Amino acid sequence: MLLKLLLRFYHGKDTIIRLFEIANVSHSSDDIVIFNTTVLQRNVPGLETIHNGGRFIVSSSEEARQLELSFDEEPINRQVHYNVPVSIFINGNLKFFAQRLGRDGMSTSWCMYCNVHPKDWSGLVAVPDDELWTLAQQTQFLDSINAGHLKEAIDKKGIVSLPLLNFVEPKHFIFPQLHFEIGTVNNVLDAFRGFIEDAFEALPETEVEARNAKIIADVSYTKARDKSNH
Ligand SMILES: [Zn+2]
Repeated sequence: MLLKLLLRFYHGKDTIIRLFEIANVSHSSDDIVIFNTTVLQRNVPGLETIHNGGRFIVSSSEEARQLELSFDEEPINRQVHYNVPVSIFINGNLKFFAQRLGRDGMSTSWCMYCNVHPKDWSGLVAVPDDELWTLAQQTQFLDSINAGHLKEAIDKKGIVSLPLLNFVEPKHFIFPQLHFEIGTVNNVLDAFRGFIEDAFEALPETEVEARNAKIIADVSYTKARDKSNH
């Protein structure tokens, strides 16, 4: 695990970037149980300390100005020029996101950023802000699931447990560009194949029917599997 520190300034001054390796697990599996029983026991409280009180302060005493990282109140014996709270953003792959956002093992069709049904966002239409998940909403949702009010997969919307980092909002998980690019290329290829089939391939009726039946069977299988998981 890497901690990437970015100090951004106004007035076009270059950003300062520093990388710190804060944890490393050698294991053949990236199962959440392994993280939970090793690095996360130290890692999560550390991040919470940074979130709750971490701030960069530029202050001056009689001698000089200085920049310091503080986890306490402002220094009382010095003049404070800037006092900037630290913001935490999380980066990683989709499995890592799912594990940290309380969605370990969820159906992959649900979105971790919004609660809109997959069939309604797959057209790349922007989702309104009030449809985006917040920690508070997710907690409320889980309470309803645990109380037995939400039973079907379509109602649970992929929520499995509380977010592991219950102080970092889902919108602070950095959009996974690599997965987006893979998904986009897959969509373009699918559309291209569809175009080739429609415009150039003259498949016999029986082959078209057999292929459609196979697609329907695959979808039914995935739905049944998701239902039995949650
Ligand atoms: Zn979404």
